[in-house]
Amino acid sequence: MRKQIAAANWKMNLTYQQAENLIDDLLALPHNLNNNQQVIFGVPFPYLTMVVDKLKGKRNVFVAAQNCYTKMNGAYTGETSIEMLQSIDVNHIIIGHSERREYFNESNEMLAAKVDLCLANNATPIFCCGEPLSVRETNEQDTFVAKQLKESLFHLIAEQIVKVVIAYEPIWAIGTGKTATSQQAQDIQAFIRNEIAKQYSNDIANEISILYGGSVKAANAKEIFGMPDVDGGLVGGASLVATEFNAIINALS
Ligand code: PEP
Repeated sequence: MRKQIAAANWKMNLTYQQAENLIDDLLALPHNLNNNQQVIFGVPFPYLTMVVDKLKGKRNVFVAAQNCYTKMNGAYTGETSIEMLQSIDVNHIIIGHSERREYFNESNEMLAAKVDLCLANNATPIFCCGEPLSVRETNEQDTFVAKQLKESLFHLIAEQIVKVVIAYEPIWAIGTGKTATSQQAQDIQAFIRNEIAKQYSNDIANEISILYGGSVKAANAKEIFGMPDVDGGLVGGASLVATEFNAIINALS
């Protein structure tokens, strides 16, 4: 059964002290996750160990890196490998965020290699996809997203793809305060699930969590998460405020 997930993406924000305070504040707030719900914190590399330690023993709560490299180790100055992440108990990795695609030229092909490396090491990739405004304006978002899925995910076998979490994030809604309507999110996420069903099967498609990302906040989370093909959210800005993110966790249906 697919999971309902509230995933935070802190991006390149917060000092160490602020990060520690944010986790402490969140832990002090009331939330009650059932067996089918998860919270994932995508935090900057220097804070991974601190957050892992603070969340140790918390049921259904995980820490994610925001990226990893396509190689296991070697002469790649400045990069971080899955092997390194797993050695500090980080087993979730955000792959292909639109900011990585845009500012660091991450191609669908490179992201396929990262997804493969995650799965080969039993780590969970949180694979991001989504269209820019120019594509949405010409109503070609389905074709655009289908290509991202085909080129980065659809080489996987069924036993592998069920282990991937997908985050649909329209680029025009990320950090802009402009959220897709819940119906827009539902329409394209149903499309994504249908593409998976066509490639694999209905059963496989129904096993995969598809998150929505793009200006999710406490005020709109319940409505968006209430859509049948939205299994939670990947949250940037609002995940930096303890009360906001806690309300988003509590909005998981
Ligand atoms: C994100 O970083 O993935 C994101 C969706 O950001 P925001 O919630 O700030 O739009």
